[in-house]
Amino acid sequence: MNGLVGKGVLVTGAASGIGEATVRRLVAEGATVVGMDLAADPPDLGDTVTVLRGDVLDGSSVRAAVEEVVERAGRLDGVVHSAGVGGGGPVHLLPDEEWDRVIDVNLTGTFVVMRAALTQMTAQERVHGERGAIVTLSSIEGLEGTAGGSAYNASKGGVVLLTKNAAIDYGPSGIRVNAICPGFIETPLFDSVMGLAGMDGPREGLRHEHKLRRFGRPDEVAAVAAFLLSSDAGFVSGQAIAVDGGYTAGRDHQITDLMGLGEQ
Ligand code: NAD
Repeated sequence: MNGLVGKGVLVTGAASGIGEATVRRLVAEGATVVGMDLAADPPDLGDTVTVLRGDVLDGSSVRAAVEEVVERAGRLDGVVHSAGVGGGGPVHLLPDEEWDRVIDVNLTGTFVVMRAALTQMTAQERVHGERGAIVTLSSIEGLEGTAGGSAYNASKGGVVLLTKNAAIDYGPSGIRVNAICPGFIETPLFDSVMGLAGMDGPREGLRHEHKLRRFGRPDEVAAVAAFLLSSDAGFVSGQAIAVDGGYTAGRDHQITDLMGLGEQ
C-alpha cells in the first residue's frame, strides 16, 4: 500500500477487535501509530506503539492523543476512529440511559475525535496535496435497519452523514473523510451480541445474509482502513464503504439454495 511509511496515525478503540487489527496493519505498513482506548490493559502491539488510556468523549484526552501523534511523527496524517459500543433494543422498552450511552459513545464520540483531528489537520501544511485523512467506523446498521437496532442504528446512521458532511466541508482543505460500514465481524463486540440468550437461530440467519456465507475478520476491515489512509485512495472521499461480504447487496431469501447456488 502506498504512502503510509512514516505517516502519523491515531487509532481509537485500539485495544480490541477492528481497532487492534488496524494498529497491527498500519504498523506493518510502516506508519507511526498511537492508540487510544478506555481499556486499562491493552494487548501488546509491539515496541513502537503506545496505547493511551482515555475516553473518546473526553475532548482533552483526545487532544492529548493527537498531540502525542504530532510529537512522534511531526504531524497527524490520519485517524481511524474505531472506539464504539453495541446496544439498543425495541424503542418502547429502551431507557434513556441506554439511548444516551450508545448515541454518546458512537456518535458524539465520533464528533469529538473528528473535531480534534480536523483542528490539527487544518493547521498543518499539505504534503503531496493532502493535509490528512480520517476514517470513521459506521456499520451496515448505519446503512439499513436491523431488528432491535434502534439506538445503535441511529448512532451509526449519524456517523455516515457526519462523515459525508466533513468530507464536503474539509475537502477544499485537502482532507479526505470516509466511513467504513462493516458487516458482522468476529470481535469481542460481536461475541457480546451473539452471546445473548436465544441468538443461535438469528446467528445462522445473519451468517447466511452475508453473501459469502461467513462473518468477517477484523484484519479484513483493517485492510480497507489502511487503504483509505493511503495515497492509493487519494481520490476517495465522502464515501460510506460497506465491507460486508455482500450483506447489503440485496436480499437472498434462500433462493440461491433453490437455484442450486447454495453453499458448496
Ligand atoms: P470491540 O468491542 O472489539 O472494540 C472496541 C474498543 O473500543 C474496545 O477496546 C473498547 O474498550 C473501546 N471503547 C469503547 N468505548 C470507548 C470510549 N468511550 N473511549 C475509548 N475507547 C472506547 O469492537 P469492534 O467490533 O472492534 O468494533 C469497532 C467499531 O466497529 C465500533 O465502532 C463498532 O460499532 C464498529 N462495528 C463493528 C462491527 C462488528 O461486527 N464487530 C460491525 C459493524 C461496525
